[in-house]
Amino acid sequence: MSRSTFLRAASTTVAVAASATLLAACGGEANADGDPATTTAGTPSASPTGGSAAASAASATPNSGTPSAAAEAFTVTHIGGPTTILEVAGARFLIDPTFDQPKKYKSGLEKTQPPAFGTDGIGRIDAVLLSHDQHDDNLDDAGRELLKKVPVVLSTPGAHKRLGDHVTGMASWTSTELRTPKGTVKVTAVPALHGPDGVDRGEDGEVTGFVLSGQGVPTTYISGDNASVKVAKEVGDRVKREIGPVDTAVVFAGAARTPAILDNAPLTLTSQNAALVAKDLDPRKVVAVHTDSWNIYSEDMASLVKAFQDQGIAGKLVDMRPDGTPANLA
Ligand SMILES: [Zn+2]
Repeated sequence: MSRSTFLRAASTTVAVAASATLLAACGGEANADGDPATTTAGTPSASPTGGSAAASAASATPNSGTPSAAAEAFTVTHIGGPTTILEVAGARFLIDPTFDQPKKYKSGLEKTQPPAFGTDGIGRIDAVLLSHDQHDDNLDDAGRELLKKVPVVLSTPGAHKRLGDHVTGMASWTSTELRTPKGTVKVTAVPALHGPDGVDRGEDGEVTGFVLSGQGVPTTYISGDNASVKVAKEVGDRVKREIGPVDTAVVFAGAARTPAILDNAPLTLTSQNAALVAKDLDPRKVVAVHTDSWNIYSEDMASLVKAFQDQGIAGKLVDMRPDGTPANLA
């Protein structure tokens, strides 16, 4: 198996497990409204497919002097629903794991299509970026099992409370740094609103987006379950101001709706609003997910393509089918 040493950052909401393999620990207050706070601590990487990763301090690769990550693979693999693997700077991130076969859930949600492949086919995963854990279409039963085998899981403070210390709860605009043999990827948690502007869904609506950045790392925005153009624009503005232009946006679209919540109001971006967000953020590439495989998505990829055509930005869209084929974003 391939082996990488990964640095995990911890926000103040979670204690880093004591480990003899800690590589570094530097201070930093996680705060929701001040400057981005970054904390860093070490943890070994492990293979979810069962290999061991006996990381040691000696195997750590210093950040400085490493080859530019720009020369490394930058690919996205869509597995179904929101579930995607993003490979950047030598790190393999898994977004919102869902790997169940079609089934109905107690929540009323229904998985309608199988994943492109199961958890035994995903290879090494260095970190899960979990936008939220409350909803089956973002974390299903097989996805929950998988979390236990992945060395780093980044999510919301609520997910940390519900899922345990294995999950780092990140407040908005706090950051963690994940070190790979190829470089360092900074992961910043960013706001997302799981419903219409002005509506507070409480715990059920707590969700986070993420931004990946770093030297040689294409700045990548991952929206999570966000329905608000305003919130996405605010994130984009701050990222442009503090980090730089957005290279790639992974947008959760599909206009998820359910009669049980807010009278069928869209709980994620409509196709039209996804196009507005893309136009405003102006990334080089847009990866649209969260339009297939679940019964609560009310708008499909065809409507999304049409909306992007209407805005004159269809050329930004990566052809993203949930078939498990890696698409090159470089
Ligand atoms: Zn959700």
